[in-house]
Amino acid sequence: MRDQTVDVSCLGCGGVLFKKGPLDDRGHWARQVASGSQLEPDGTDTYYKCPHCGAKNIVVSETSPHGVPQLRISHVKK
Ligand SMILES: [Zn+2]
Repeated sequence: MRDQTVDVSCLGCGGVLFKKGPLDDRGHWARQVASGSQLEPDGTDTYYKCPHCGAKNIVVSETSPHGVPQLRISHVKK
């Protein structure tokens, strides 16, 4: 597997939330577990709290055309 990680940025301030790396060779990605913010629930949403500006980066779960669940940051909530 290629050693190729990409920074995932806060939609509020552009600061780095965590890094992600390729999960396979079909375009799927996974968060690098040792890096950055943890996924947190707040009752209705699941989010990454930005360590830089404190915004909640709300994530939505999607299923790729290959049937693999993928998380995508949809918007920020202050
Ligand atoms: Zn931020």
